[in-house]
Order: sequence, then C-alpha cells, then structure tokens
Amino acid sequence: MIILPIASGSTGNCVLLDLDGKTILIDLGVSASMLKHALTENGYTFESIHAVLITHTHSDHVKGLEACLKRIDAPLFMSHTSKDILRIERATPLLYSVRTQILEGLWVTAIPTSHDCLGSIGFKIETEDTCTGYITDLGCIPDSTMQLLYGAKCIVIESNHDEEMLRYGRYPAFLKKRILSDDGHLSNETCSEAVARFAERGTRYFFLAHLSQENNRPELALASAVKATAGMNAEIQVLPVYGERIIEVD
Ligand SMILES: [Zn+2]
Ligand SMILES: [Zn+2]
Repeated sequence: MIILPIASGSTGNCVLLDLDGKTILIDLGVSASMLKHALTENGYTFESIHAVLITHTHSDHVKGLEACLKRIDAPLFMSHTSKDILRIERATPLLYSVRTQILEGLWVTAIPTSHDCLGSIGFKIETEDTCTGYITDLGCIPDSTMQLLYGAKCIVIESNHDEEMLRYGRYPAFLKKRILSDDGHLSNETCSEAVARFAERGTRYFFLAHLSQENNRPELALASAVKATAGMNAEIQVLPVYGERIIEVD
C-alpha cells in the first residue's frame, strides 16, 4: 500500500491511496495544478486515478473539486447530503454504514462522522488483502465507528489540536468552543486514546492528519500517540500540511 499525502489541515486536504494497484483520491481541497504536480512527481497522472471519495463539503476538502474533476474522469463518491449540497450530477451517493463495492476488488463503507457539516463521512476502504480507515473532521469517535475499524491495517486519523494550546491560544471563544465540541475536531488526547485502542486490536500503521497550524505542533501530536501506544506494535507518522512524498506500507 502506498499513501501520498498531498495536503492535510485547515488549508486543504487531499490524500492519494494506492491499494493493490487501485488508486483513489480522498478529498479535493487543493488546486488542479498542485494535484497535477504531486501526481507527476510520483509517477501518477490524472488518468491513473480510479475513484475519488469526498468526506464533506467544507471548503478545505472541496475547494479544488470543480477544477480537478475537469481533469479526472474517474467515478466520484460522497454522501447523499454532500451531493445535494454540491449539486454534482456525476457523483454517486454512498449509503451510510453499508459496505459498497465501488471498483472491482475495492469496497468502501461510508462512516457518518460527528462534525458541524451535514453529510460528513469517513471511510473504511477494503481490498481483498488490506483494510484502511480514514477519519478526519470529527469531534468524537462513537463506539460504532471504533468497532467498524477494529482490525484495519492502517488508519488515517485526525489529531487536530493540543487542548492546552487551543484553550490558551488566540482563537476567539466561539471558535474554541466549536473546535472542542463533539461535532468539532479531534484533540491529540482523544486521537491518542483511539489510536491505542486500535493498536491493541491489531492496527499497525497510523497517520495523524488535519493538524492545526495554530493550535498544534507535529511533535506534540506524535509524542501523544507514541506515549499512548508504548509497548505496542504501532508505527505512527504525521501527515505534512503540504507534502509530495510517497510513504510505502508493507
Ligand atoms: Zn477539514
Ligand atoms: Zn470540516
């Protein structure tokens, strides 16, 4: 499995996953030129994309959607609500919590996420050999989501903020309240607890995503998750805000 993080955070989100030769993009919160550059640098083209998945309609996830979709001919999947909001005819809606085959040998389950955006989802993505979870932009993780992703080989999970940095930082009170709420964003602390629970049940690879540039630092997010998984067989990395380096997972 290959993961190519192109953008991760409040300024834009777009991640390429190459699973047994099936290449999918999650979110299009980057410009078409930026996406093209990242693809080309790593031996991919717009034509090598087999499917596009969209988590939700906040602009950091869809601001490049229109421009990128002019270049990408692959099937597009999102929730019913996101399709209604974005009014994109070619999108195929995914039913919540239903395992759906979207390509030959590739199944996706849309996981409703607790976030202040209607129709927001994460994904469980399965091939015959591997299972990957993708959950960003969520204020809490219900047990049903944890259970759905137990046993995944790899999980991309939000580690948005350090609670102290946020509480004592310069954001206005209403924004702090929004981020800390159950439909805001995951803190390092909550993320780490989840990472430990996943690791206990066999997940080995973790990618910490959607870090706040204002209220977090990569080393804090990483240290928190590493501490929570001490003694476990977990490999944890932080996705960069902007990056074009392929990461290979066995
Ligand atoms: Zn976001
Ligand atoms: Zn969001």
